[in-house]
Amino acid sequence: MKKIIIVLMFLVLISGCAKINLDIPNSNSSNNEFEASEDELVAHFIDVGQGDANFIELPNGDTMLIDAGEAYESDTVIDYIENLGYTDIDYVIGTHPHTDHIGGLADVINTFDVAFIYMPKAVSTSKTYENLLETIKNKGLNIHTGASGVEVLNEDNLAIEMLAPNAEKYSGMNNYSIVLKITYGNISFLYTGDAEALSEKEITSDVSADVLKVGHHGSDTSTSNEFLARVNPSYAIISVGANNSYNHPSSSTIKKLEEYTNNIYRTDLNGSIIVKSDGINIEVETEK
Ligand SMILES: [Zn+2]
Repeated sequence: MKKIIIVLMFLVLISGCAKINLDIPNSNSSNNEFEASEDELVAHFIDVGQGDANFIELPNGDTMLIDAGEAYESDTVIDYIENLGYTDIDYVIGTHPHTDHIGGLADVINTFDVAFIYMPKAVSTSKTYENLLETIKNKGLNIHTGASGVEVLNEDNLAIEMLAPNAEKYSGMNNYSIVLKITYGNISFLYTGDAEALSEKEITSDVSADVLKVGHHGSDTSTSNEFLARVNPSYAIISVGANNSYNHPSSSTIKKLEEYTNNIYRTDLNGSIIVKSDGINIEVETEK
């Protein structure tokens, strides 16, 4: 179908307004308003060892970075994004103030032109966090509060919405994690940061997603049975360091995920992982 559309678009281009009658097979896409687009969403799950760094090339041309790993991995993230040819990032999300998520952000913000920064209203006295706040201030940027209900983008076939955090105060930092859903055409991606079962339970919005960035590096504190049933993923991505001291991912989480999909990818085994979608189909490429 995609090829036919491309050919058709080409014919329209070369023939101006001439009417073209082509027989296009009646595919099941007539059930969907959305048709596969040439504009792809490309989601990069960058291997930063034990941590998260997710870069997304949105189909509208915008870019988004969700976390940037530990501070000592910042060059990995910066090189990766520069190699893709970008000098600016439209949206930067720091899911929560733990160093394996926001550690690399200060260097990223000093390197790229950043338009918007979102972080949850969480307090941390860590040097890494204070350094990040200082960097943001020095760059003259404001922090937009990330919380459930915040709409980052809402265009025709592209929506980005935050589903968590839902409460103002948590005893553990992980539950402050911004949970983000990106929907492009018929395909959805769910980024869960390190949100644990408590936060998963608080989310009342539709969490169903084709691609799940598994919460908290595959720890058994996240990915509760109820939540996973609601997400019902076809692809699961775990961002995790080889031989990490936390024993992430937990074997129980892997077992649970396997009940839903055999498409489980891990940065410790696969290196950086790229998931591409035209809004209907999904394609995965891995470094290893
Ligand atoms: Zn983490």
